[in-house]
Amino acid sequence: MYTNVCKHCHTVFRSRIRTLCCRECRHLDDGQLDDIVQYLKQYPNSNALQIGEELGIHPYEILKFMEEGWLTESRGEFSRLPEEN
Ligand SMILES: [Zn+2]
Repeated sequence: MYTNVCKHCHTVFRSRIRTLCCRECRHLDDGQLDDIVQYLKQYPNSNALQIGEELGIHPYEILKFMEEGWLTESRGEFSRLPEEN
């Protein structure tokens, strides 16, 4: 079991898989995720910053989707922002 903190409502909860979103807030992610997937179909080479600007989603949220495994290469080419040094 993992102890997680929801990125939306900051509730602490336990789950069998590591996740950043509690069950109550999962629908928030689902809507955003659909938007991102649709956007990537139209613009397959977008990065998190471009997607975030277009959809009004913070790029951090998009990167979190990636870390959680929701966005994979099968859903389009998706590149991380270059590391800032
Ligand atoms: Zn939550």
